[in-house]
Amino acid sequence: MRTFEELGVIPEIQKAITELGFEQPMPVQTEVIPQLLANTRDIIALAQTGTGKTAAFGIPIIQKINVKQLSPQTLILCPTRELCLQIAGDLTDYSTYVQDIKILPVYGGSSIDSQIRTLKRGVHIIVATPGRLIDLIKRRTVSLSDVHTMVLDEADEMLNMGFSEDIDEILSHLPEERSMLLFSATMPKEIEKITRKYMSDPVEITIGRKNEGALNVRHLFYMVHAKDKYLALKRIVDYYPNIYGIVFCRTRKETQEIADKLMQDGYDADSLHGDLSQAQRDLVMAKFRNHNLQLLIATDVAARGLDVDDVTHIINFGLPDDQESYTHRSGRTGRAGKTGTSISIIHIKEKGKIAQIEKMINKKFEKREIPKGDVICEKQLFNFVDKIEKVKVNEAEIERLLPSIFRKLEWLEKEDIIKRIVSLEFNRLIEYYQQAEEIYEPQEGSSRRGRDDFRGKGDRQDGGARRAEKGYARLFINIGKMDGVNPGTLMGFINDNVPGKVPVGRIDLMKNFSFFEVPEELASKVVSTFKGMYVDERKLMVQIAQDDSGQERGKKKFYGNDSGGKSKKKKVRY
Ligand code: AMP
Repeated sequence: MRTFEELGVIPEIQKAITELGFEQPMPVQTEVIPQLLANTRDIIALAQTGTGKTAAFGIPIIQKINVKQLSPQTLILCPTRELCLQIAGDLTDYSTYVQDIKILPVYGGSSIDSQIRTLKRGVHIIVATPGRLIDLIKRRTVSLSDVHTMVLDEADEMLNMGFSEDIDEILSHLPEERSMLLFSATMPKEIEKITRKYMSDPVEITIGRKNEGALNVRHLFYMVHAKDKYLALKRIVDYYPNIYGIVFCRTRKETQEIADKLMQDGYDADSLHGDLSQAQRDLVMAKFRNHNLQLLIATDVAARGLDVDDVTHIINFGLPDDQESYTHRSGRTGRAGKTGTSISIIHIKEKGKIAQIEKMINKKFEKREIPKGDVICEKQLFNFVDKIEKVKVNEAEIERLLPSIFRKLEWLEKEDIIKRIVSLEFNRLIEYYQQAEEIYEPQEGSSRRGRDDFRGKGDRQDGGARRAEKGYARLFINIGKMDGVNPGTLMGFINDNVPGKVPVGRIDLMKNFSFFEVPEELASKVVSTFKGMYVDERKLMVQIAQDDSGQERGKKKFYGNDSGGKSKKKKVRY
């Protein structure tokens, strides 16, 4: 492997990047740096964020600046303000020991006057978002006639954001003879058009395979009913106690809603989207960067400029509309040599999209089942126990308090203390999962309408979709946990009322209703027994939920006789 020195990087920059912790060039740097230093005219580099691309173009650009000539010599265009600041900041870091170099970020949403003043004083490198730069060009406060190098960073994203015409406009102000460097994570047709239009015989550099996601990212998906998506998200987050992740939503509204719900439910989460003020966005990003926030809920656009290397998980709260966005999203994890996981919570209708993305990234998704409550609790508990083992004890600080603490707890055995500490941390979680209904995957080809007919308002469980055990029929009953029913009382209730002995199989208790299984030959007897019965003032409804072909029966035809009050008003208790 070649060193930065062997690539031709000058000692001043080497010193700065060594201080930043760059020991060896990353592949994109090994490819791009010598090309740019050797004045290769045009370069197309297919590389995602996280591959080290900023330094790949930033280092040679700085090196090629003639500081004595105080006019813009390099223009870097990027899609968002965040990325603009990021790139300008990185370039400033690389040029710590290069005397007098002037780098100016130019972006919307901040004072144009101060940007104009800085431009008047003279700059060498402009990092800009297209809109603000055009504004400055129109005001004739910037001249691009000395620009010899132009970089289009995240070109695919710029096109996605509708900057195509702006790019045309800006390029028309640049000299004919200039090098152009285009960075893109993906290579859609529109990018190929730009390259044909503005580049002559470009050198093409591909880091990884074309359109392939990062190699060290695993792709998982969970399939749930649309209404279970949020609960599934919570479970997934709970299943990874040390998650440091970004949850991508499709709209600003959804982003805010999900963030609000997570915060209400006690998660360390916050939102990042375009409806927030710049100051709010900066604050959230700083919190996330500093690990003061575990979950960032973001839109694609708002998260663009976020440069964080150790994101462990990306969660797609639904798949993005375009496949390229998936590559961008998943490229936010598995960076700088680390491994990462990209999780998608999808609806059954999105299954086809998975196959398309698999083709594009040339990788298979692993299908997962939503973790069950007990598995989550176990995982959280062991993670906590692990933390207890590893925690650094500050002996000096707690020394003086220890004798009184020991005295206070002296009556407890070691086992009791452990149990209490663990309970303190986990009682709420355990209780939540004891009460929570499991989330089931939608059955392909099953009738949603039919199943929904059995639901109580606000219930989210699809226990009715489950098939009965062989030889058993699955029955629906319109009483559930809210009515104080538990498996014991339900079994007792059935056997107290149905003549003869009824062996009750699997029971699924929901909030407002339940399912239970009885031997097939007894099903109609059970149904007819409860016909017309009342519990308190509520009419009981019992019906066969599914036959053994998995088809729901008797939709909307509730037993219990609704016809004109002729029902026998048998009052029962359970
Ligand atoms: P980028 O693809 O430009 O967003 O860079 C991803 C991350 O890799 C940034 O945090 C850089 O600071 C870091 N980085 C870039 N080049 C190197 C290198 N040669 N060695 C170590 N880290 C690097």
